[in-house]
Amino acid sequence: MLTDFLPTTKKECELRGWTELDVILFSGDAYVDHPSFGAAVIGRTLEAAGYRVAIVPQPDWHGDYRDFKKLGRPRLFFGISPGAMDSMVNKYTANRRLRSEDAYSPDGRHDCRPEYPTIVYTKILKQLFPDVPVILGGIEASLRRVTHYDYWSDSLRPCILCESGADMITYGMGEKVTLAIAKALSEGKQLSELRDIPQIVYLAPGSELTITPDDIVLHSHEQCLRDKRAQAENFRHVEEESNKYYAQRLIQPLEGDNYQLSLVNCQLSTPCVVINPPYPPMTTAEIDASFDLPYQRVPHPKYKGKRIPAYEMIKFSVNLHRGCFGGCAFCTISAHQGKFIACRSKESILREVKQVVKLPDFKGYLSDLGGPSANMYGMHGKNLKACEACKKPSCLHPRVCPNLMTDHSALLDIYHAVDALPEVKKSFIGSGVRYDLLLHHSDDEKSNESARQYTRELITRHISGRLKVAPEHTSDTVLNYMRKPSFQLFYDFKRIFDRINKEEGLRQQLIPYFISSHPGCREKDMAQLADLTKKMGYKLEQVQDFTPTPMTTATEMFYTGYDPYTLEPVFTAKTQKEKLAQRQYFFWYKDAPQSSRKESHSRREQPSRKDASSHKKVIGMVYFTRTFSPFCIPGIHFGIPVMMRSASASNDGKMERTILTFEMLPSFSTIKLAITRPSFFASCASLGYFMFS
Ligand code: SF4
Repeated sequence: MLTDFLPTTKKECELRGWTELDVILFSGDAYVDHPSFGAAVIGRTLEAAGYRVAIVPQPDWHGDYRDFKKLGRPRLFFGISPGAMDSMVNKYTANRRLRSEDAYSPDGRHDCRPEYPTIVYTKILKQLFPDVPVILGGIEASLRRVTHYDYWSDSLRPCILCESGADMITYGMGEKVTLAIAKALSEGKQLSELRDIPQIVYLAPGSELTITPDDIVLHSHEQCLRDKRAQAENFRHVEEESNKYYAQRLIQPLEGDNYQLSLVNCQLSTPCVVINPPYPPMTTAEIDASFDLPYQRVPHPKYKGKRIPAYEMIKFSVNLHRGCFGGCAFCTISAHQGKFIACRSKESILREVKQVVKLPDFKGYLSDLGGPSANMYGMHGKNLKACEACKKPSCLHPRVCPNLMTDHSALLDIYHAVDALPEVKKSFIGSGVRYDLLLHHSDDEKSNESARQYTRELITRHISGRLKVAPEHTSDTVLNYMRKPSFQLFYDFKRIFDRINKEEGLRQQLIPYFISSHPGCREKDMAQLADLTKKMGYKLEQVQDFTPTPMTTATEMFYTGYDPYTLEPVFTAKTQKEKLAQRQYFFWYKDAPQSSRKESHSRREQPSRKDASSHKKVIGMVYFTRTFSPFCIPGIHFGIPVMMRSASASNDGKMERTILTFEMLPSFSTIKLAITRPSFFASCASLGYFMFS
């Protein structure tokens, strides 16, 4: 029934008998009534508290703004939920190319939301309803709550409140803070009276703020624009406070210079961004209450017949917990959800599984029983007082904290209970598994035994022939910047994986993920990666270039060139040429990397590479600085200008032949021409306009 969903139109509001709304949410994603979609979570949370709430999914931001006007003015506030992903990450690849589809839009369409919907939607709402508060939520606003680097515009941008004109940001997971705002506004309080609410960000004149010893005053936005080191220094505080149990308030002036990082009992004269500390992690009862809301678990009926890719991916999966204590430098989970794990109860999880198995196209297979990391469920510090005083961004790096309880038994208990349901044929674990937790040797033998049992059950019962894990690199230097464990642990885990497969008569694969061009990574590190993985028999598939997303340690290193914790300089491959050069090492087994053909017109600065174990040894790159005439090399007399893209030699110990790759201009196709090495050099010598690096 239409009334089982939150209303999206005036007619649907009328079906509920609502003539006025308390809150109207504008969402950059399609409306899927599911606990993985932020607008649905916030809408259902407000509804359960008695507020009349509607969602306008993917409003048209062109023309007369009728989508923004159609539900009128809400009694309390407009909420903006730009989407489950940052809009720019959702739209573009690491190379700033358009992704094949928008995973959160019907039929994957790209034209359903603008870039930076937070800014676009707010400006429209403030133009139409200047006196109605606009409250921002979602990843895009949460991770742009302070001066941040924006990769897509290649610029340092201030807190998104400054660019959007919104009144407030709710960062992190939004249930408690949104309810607190709704309650305060419905009690008749003004926005300026809401400044004590945790987990909000607001702008205020410095003269209205009193700095206390508990506050941290960051370098101003203006100073960060001038001084990258100031930006790096700021980030350390931002990350530490995002991961503390009892965080301090952060204040960032917009203008001015040389504020001390702790000013006491004084006032600032410039406008400031104020970031209140977050709420403590949700209790099990609180997180259960959120997941137990009456979600329909399907897209709104308006999308009938349409495919929403992200929904297709998660419709048979269940999220068991929030938070991640891995602290990987390139990841934003802890900046949004924090490092402390908030767990659902077994009963709540089973209730949700019982709903999933009733979906019409459920065939008995759950695609994921997961979380930000699959196997952190139920884990916490043994001495909670120590955790409450801790500001480390990771409980696993540089080594597993001795205070961390790594018992997997609670998680195993849930897997067993789910698998015992008659409708479930198999439950898969699709979320990333931290194998360093499985290999960790705790002083508690029960934890060690549960980790061994988990490993065996994972491999024998919960994967479909392949287990994907994320060593991310092989070089200890790079792994240290990434805050990931040594690659030695991957060897150890692979040995266990292979042994269990052998014992069980299975032929499954362990697939590693890797990242190129991460800060701290040089070509020699990539050459080592290619060499080691080749020796292990891998032809890599699960690889990606580092994407500098807002508010990660790695992004700050990328932009500032400093490690925020040591303030030591860090090298980063930044240009397309440098990044491509690193990426190519993943594909040593291809004649000429796809990306190379498309993107590299000149290899002039490409260092020669020598991978002793490669099947095909690249002996050098040959390129022409101009199109050459078709009579130069016999066999390519097409009368069409051609350009040599690359040359490589296949080699199993000794040089046998050289492959020249030519591409017709314009790019109709690629022609490969094999010639003997002497001919190659003779041809090149006669041409006289090549470079050999
Ligand atoms: S004390 Fe150890 S287990 Fe607790 S939060 Fe800090 S690093 Fe994590």
